[in-house]
Amino acid sequence: LSQPKSDTQTALKDIFISVKTTAKYHASRIRLIQKTWYALARDETYFFTDGNDKELGRDLGGHLINTNCSTGHSRRALSCKMAVEMDFYMASRKRWFCHLDDDVYLNVPRLLELLQKYNHKQDWYLGKPSLKHPLEVIDRDNPGMKLTFWFATGGAGFCISRSLALKMAPYASGGRFMTTAEQIRLPDDCTIGYIIEHLLKQRLTIINLFHSHLEALWLIKRHQLEKQVTFSYSKYSGKLNVLNVDGFDVEEDPTRLKSVHCLLFPTFRECETLPRH
Ligand code: UDP
Ligand code: MN
Repeated sequence: LSQPKSDTQTALKDIFISVKTTAKYHASRIRLIQKTWYALARDETYFFTDGNDKELGRDLGGHLINTNCSTGHSRRALSCKMAVEMDFYMASRKRWFCHLDDDVYLNVPRLLELLQKYNHKQDWYLGKPSLKHPLEVIDRDNPGMKLTFWFATGGAGFCISRSLALKMAPYASGGRFMTTAEQIRLPDDCTIGYIIEHLLKQRLTIINLFHSHLEALWLIKRHQLEKQVTFSYSKYSGKLNVLNVDGFDVEEDPTRLKSVHCLLFPTFRECETLPRH
């Protein structure tokens, strides 16, 4: 029996990869993405920013969207961007919405492999919390009560199936995401968790293969790197939190993303100059 067309195995083209960025990171973070994992998912990846950048926009094949959201790290600015990301996703009609920050390395084949295990026609919220407990906030509808829910850290990346995204629309599409975010006064990734877990009563599925810089990245073992879906990097008050991986010199690759990319995909042109160990 032939399968109905909609039940074919998920392919890369069925995934909408959404990267949140800001004008001041175009030259550093987006160029680094361009030199690494972007080559594996050019057509699927869209960048959401807050300023015009003709040259970068051209290099990204028009996939640089100026959200016209205000710049800055404010709750408003960031939830404004998430709202635009979700609206673009809905219009794309793809099976999966995957959000990433611009300091994330995406292991593209592993993401595809992961999503192939889940049915996009069912409700799936895949990601990794950075807290060891659910978030607890005051319930404004029931004075004196608290409500708790889990949320996936935006900086680790998370994915939402089309079925679930459709159910989120009343709270998340066409400007309503910002209204929801303002009601609970929480950051964009918490708002996603609030909509899915509290309002829609669905559950976050924890994927341990996602890694934000809120965890100790240097603890990930060398032999486990290939299996992971996302990595990040950070520098807080001079302290680096990066993968412990051989490859390029620290001066050339302070974030270690070029090195991990060449470890995963050694045949890339960017990896020709890699010192062999
Ligand atoms: N970001 C933004 N506007 C800003 C600052 C940051 O859209 O003014 C985005 C940034 O591009 C990234 C995410 O928000 O995708 C998280 O920013 P960052 O990594 O600088 O901070 P973190 O919250 O991880 O410490
Ligand atoms: Mn970050």
